[in-house]
Order: sequence, then C-alpha cells, then structure tokens
Amino acid sequence: MHNTGMLQASSSTVAHRPHCRFCNAGLQHVFVDLGMSPMANAYRSASEQDRMEPFYPLRAWVCDQCLLVQLEEFETPEQIFGTDYAYFSSYSESWLDHARRYVESVSTRFGLGPQSRVVEVACNDGYLLRWFLPRGIKVLGIEPAGNCAEAARAQGIEVAVEFFGARTANDLKARGYRADLMVANNVVAHVPDLNDFVEGFRILLTPTGVVTFEFHHVLNLIRHNQFDTVYHEHFCYHSLSTFRQILAHHGLQVFDVEELPTHGGSLRVYAQPQGTGIQPVSTRVPALLDVERQAGLTGVDAYLAFGERVKRMKRQLLRFLIDAKTAGKSIAAYGAPAKGNTLLNYAGVRNDFIDYTVDRNPHKQGMTLPGTQIPIHDPAKIFETRPDYLLILPWNLRDEIVAQMAGIREWGGRFLVLIPEVEVID
Ligand SMILES: [Zn+2]
Repeated sequence: MHNTGMLQASSSTVAHRPHCRFCNAGLQHVFVDLGMSPMANAYRSASEQDRMEPFYPLRAWVCDQCLLVQLEEFETPEQIFGTDYAYFSSYSESWLDHARRYVESVSTRFGLGPQSRVVEVACNDGYLLRWFLPRGIKVLGIEPAGNCAEAARAQGIEVAVEFFGARTANDLKARGYRADLMVANNVVAHVPDLNDFVEGFRILLTPTGVVTFEFHHVLNLIRHNQFDTVYHEHFCYHSLSTFRQILAHHGLQVFDVEELPTHGGSLRVYAQPQGTGIQPVSTRVPALLDVERQAGLTGVDAYLAFGERVKRMKRQLLRFLIDAKTAGKSIAAYGAPAKGNTLLNYAGVRNDFIDYTVDRNPHKQGMTLPGTQIPIHDPAKIFETRPDYLLILPWNLRDEIVAQMAGIREWGGRFLVLIPEVEVID
C-alpha cells in the first residue's frame, strides 16, 4: 500500500488502465464523462489567443473497491499550481469570514494559545492563518504557488513554498517544526499522490494534535447535480466513509465531522492520531456514515446513475439559453471560477451565448476563459452594457453576488443560475 510508485505512473500509461489513487485497484467504472476540456484554471492572455490550446479528457472514475471518485492526471500539480496561481482566496468576502469563524471555533475548542503551533497546508494568500496572528499563535503556511505565498508573507505569515507530503513533513520535523493543529481546506482534492499527502499529517502532528480537512462532499455533488465541480485540478471527490478509510490507513482517527454550506456542501472532518482517545468520537460521525449508506454511497450503483443525469442537464440548460437568445436577450456572466469553465466547455457555450464575464480579481481581468475564449472584464462593465441576464457561474456564492449586483434590477436585469438546475432568480 505504501508503494505509491504505481499511483505515480505517467499519464500515457494511466490513460488506458487507471488505478485507484488510494487502494490501487484497477478502475472499471466511469462516474461521469464530460468530454474534452482545457485545464479549468488555464486563463489565457490576449497574446495567447492565436496559439493552440491543450484539451484533455475530463472523465471521473469510481473505484469499486474503496469507492473513491477520481480523475486521471494529465498535467502535474507543478504545471497546474506552480509559480503563478490565479485563485486568491481573500477576494471572496464570505470565504474570509468562513475562515475567521473557523479560527475562533478551533482556538476555543482545542485551547489554542501562544504556546500552540498551527500549520496550514495550501495557505493560499493567508486568508485563514492571518486570523491566528492577533491571538499570538505561531503559524506556518505551506503553499506551492509563489505569488500566493508572497501575498501571505506580506501579512506577516511564515510560508514554506512547497508541495506538501511525507518528504516535506519530515524536513519540517527535522527542523523542529510540529503542529498542534493542522488545517487542510480544499486541498485534499488537488493532490495526485493521496497516500503520500495524508502520511504527511501523521508525521507533523503532535501526539495530542488535531487535523481538520475541508472538502466538497461527494454526496452533494451527486444529489445537487454539481458536475461542474469536476475539473482536472480535482483529482479526488470524497465521501466521509471513503475518507475515513484513507485516514485510518495512515494512523489517523476521525472523531468529528461537520456539514458546511461552503462550495455547495462541504465536510469538515476532524481527526487525531489513532489510539490516543484524547478527543471523544462525536455521534455525528456514525450519523453521517449512516446518511451516506442510505444514499447508496457504499455501493457502486448510486455513482453510476449520475452520468445520465448530467447529459439531461446539458440539454435543459442549452434549451434555456437558445430560447433566451432567440427572444433577443443579452447574457453576461459573473465570475470566472474553475467550475464555470467545466460547465461552459461541457455545454459548448461560448460568446455566441455569453457576451463576456466579469471578475473582481484583477489578475483575471483582461484574460479569457480557457476553451470558450469568453473575455473577463471588471464588474463595472455590467453597468455599462446592462445585460438582460447575469449568469452566476460561482453558484455557491449566489446570495453574496445577488446582493452585490442588486443594481442590475434597475434596468430589469435578472440573475440566472444553471446548477443544480436552470433557475431565474427574481
Ligand atoms: Zn480504490
């Protein structure tokens, strides 16, 4: 099992016979096939418009042994998340607030103070660790993207610019680092070598330490048709039951779980080193495992019905867009999230339907969306062109965006979401 060499096979071999990233069983079942798609975060500048753009199969599998939903790897994390990554967490106010509330909650619950050390894996621009600083708690961020690391350092956060895994954890431990709390938010899906990654937490955590993981819950992906959250940068999609097996394999015991509304329905899983029994196991753990069992997530069939539903949704959303354009309506989009790129590329929706999109992140403005070449502008553009519909691509932030952009109602503009189904918001 610890021989992860098989899991690191080159894309030319795994493309034909993929193996499970956790248990290494041969994968036989396709969960959803979204056709050919570019890397969802490969935004393109004006000078790149005339160049060829790589597209890769966007196909998720489910392992019939451990039920891990997973993608093959076509580009390495170095290529995806290396030097310059366009996603700065602090541009989302609701996400910043989510991080602040988390820090308050864990600091109280686990008695963290100036003697404690917190390590966050994939600290991005410091959106979370910054809230520990006023409490005098020592923090270390681990972040492979240099531009994100710089933004975090500018806030006084110590950052190691690296990918996390067993090697990094051992290096840090040898240099005297340890962690009373480790945080891994929305990163475990981005890791191709899942076993090596999880092993790193076991290594760096103190015997009394706690680790929390947040990730999109595959139960919500299935229940709420969130197929657009499938993209190449997400290698895995977890249920509690599968994730608990993975942690147990690396000596970590799940003792609590919370369901969060973030990203369309996430889990926050709390774990501790196995056998310590310091934190009692909450009744929420068996309760959620039972919900998953009842939803069929412990067998392969519930996963296999998903692909057909996604095809139906594509026809439904195209029907709406075609009718709107036939009626002479103009449509602009809000946001340039990775999930929007999966949706637009899968549906084949380009600027024949969507005139442009806008994003508050200045790093994305002036670029185009990968594949569809829809231009990204400053949100002010909405008020210049006054579109009839504003399609909210980051549907997980719909309330925030509807409030921010309420001004479109002045000219009768209406909000539109396509996930979990086509909905015009009045
Ligand atoms: Zn497996």
